Amino acid sequence: MSASRAIDVPRALPAEVDVIVVGSGAAALTGAFAAANSGLCVLVLEKSSYLGGTCAYSGGAMWLPGNHILERDGVEDDVETGLTYFRATVGDRTPRDLQEAYVRTGPEMVAFLADEAGFLADKMSFPDYFEAPGRAKPTGRAIGPTPIPSARLGAALDVLRPTAAADKFGRDVARAELHGGQSLIAQLLLALDGCADVDIRIECPMDSLVYENGRVCGVRAGRAEIVARLGVIVAAGGYDADDARRRSLQGIAGGGAASTPVGINTGDALDAFTAVGADIDLLEEAWWAPGIVMPTGRATFLPIVQGGIFVGTDGRRFADESLPYDRLGHELLEQVHRLGADATFWWVFDSRDAGAPGICEPPLVLEEFTADSEWFHTAETVKELAGKLGIDADTLAATVERFNKGAADGRDDDFGRGIDDFGRFFGTGNGSNPALIPLEIGPFRAMRLVLSDLGTKGGARIGTDGEVLRPDGQPIPGLYAAGGSAASVAGHVYPGPGTPLGSGMVFAYRAAKAMARARGGARTPEVATR
Ligand SMILES: Cc1cc2nc3c(=O)[nH]c(=O)nc-3n(C[C@H](O)[C@H](O)[C@H](O)COP(=O)(O)OP(=O)(O)OC[C@H]3O[C@@H](n4cnc5c(N)ncnc54)[C@H](O)[C@@H]3O)c2cc1C
Repeated sequence: MSASRAIDVPRALPAEVDVIVVGSGAAALTGAFAAANSGLCVLVLEKSSYLGGTCAYSGGAMWLPGNHILERDGVEDDVETGLTYFRATVGDRTPRDLQEAYVRTGPEMVAFLADEAGFLADKMSFPDYFEAPGRAKPTGRAIGPTPIPSARLGAALDVLRPTAAADKFGRDVARAELHGGQSLIAQLLLALDGCADVDIRIECPMDSLVYENGRVCGVRAGRAEIVARLGVIVAAGGYDADDARRRSLQGIAGGGAASTPVGINTGDALDAFTAVGADIDLLEEAWWAPGIVMPTGRATFLPIVQGGIFVGTDGRRFADESLPYDRLGHELLEQVHRLGADATFWWVFDSRDAGAPGICEPPLVLEEFTADSEWFHTAETVKELAGKLGIDADTLAATVERFNKGAADGRDDDFGRGIDDFGRFFGTGNGSNPALIPLEIGPFRAMRLVLSDLGTKGGARIGTDGEVLRPDGQPIPGLYAAGGSAASVAGHVYPGPGTPLGSGMVFAYRAAKAMARARGGARTPEVATR
């Protein structure tokens, strides 16, 4: 398959292609496939030795309202309702035409992938993140890739980035079947396998863009300068792993270690865009989330909190812990900005469950933690635990007591936990409010909690076809951006599960289609024999 060509003996890069795609996450590969399927000659450049980027770590959820898979799976949804919801949550932080391009193109792109690539997906049960007009109830409107046998990938499995559990945390993860983002990348690689004119290179970073006479006409990679006759789609992620940039732009510490994406996105796209005069936006934003620091010192993504409470070193709660993760992340961000980048937070819970009361990706394994270490403490009583955390014992005990009293009545008068559908949807409590479970059963535990994220959101400002804009709003000819390299269409919020992947794929798809149109219409795709 095409992807296996990437692990062939190194050979010279082509001098000229129609389209260069930088990166190999879902946005990049969707753009590459849409371009190649239109008969264009495509070169994909990937910096690392794996294909898939952060998408390979992800759940693979895609927020694409009104698509045919939702309809097939019995979810009542349509594009207009999805657009109403998207507008209500994002507001006017991003242009209306951009929002429309995203939401209205979703169904077309899903149909294209299904028809042209045999792409398989199913509805996911994961509610939207805000109570706003058009919220999809009760189970949300995300779709996720259907699991596929890894054997279908053949030799390319060796270059598909492993799951986060294996790649970042060194766990032994069975890979007979590919799930979530792994399946998404695998299915896109299989789609590219059916295209004649695609060349995929690993360990081949874009160093800079070739910019001449006011347009981008190619890419520099090592000693090579490759011409892109129609354009370059940069989908090379954000600057998640650039600690210095994140500290200065976002006022946070931890950067790469606290961030959950692959640790390789250091802002190459941002540097390349800046060098050619692109307008840059949303640098202060990320897809925020709470994270739990693993014994390796790196964070794991905590999207769903079902039990326990979050406290600062003052021993007090500061948020509804059952909120959707980006909203909870914003609460943590506010605390960080208030208390300082190095502020410490703890997730305190009891022993009602054998493990930690939440869903983590990769999952938390309590046995991996050493008790009374930097990341994890355990004690028979809440007061004793407070002592180990350096928190005033009476304050923490009072916080737990107040929370427990409210939980018994199904109320959280301080932060309204369980009012939002999201918290109730994932709640596991037996009482009137399933998001509220008292902390009663010792030993009590505390895990180090950090402000984490699924990637940064700032990048090149784009138009409706993913074209990169200058500060005056004019496009830079030949340059397109998608995924974490583009300033997010979602602005300051995270409307629903799968917005990052869904929007990234749509704008890369639109960019490819725009280039195919510029070329003079799509050619009949050539299909290589397998
Ligand atoms: C645990 C986890 C779960 C998630 N679940 C979901 C989910 O279910 N749904 C969802 O929508 N989002 C999810 N996300 C977020 C989502 O995965 C990211 O937003 C998305 O993958 C970003 O896509 P991207 O293409 O911009 O970057 P990436 O997927 O990171 O891909 C960028 C690629 O570009 C390469 N690259 C970087 N610089 C260069 C260069 N100079 N030259 C060539 N290549 C370069 C990188 O090596 C990388 O392979 C999740 C994230 C995590 C960590």
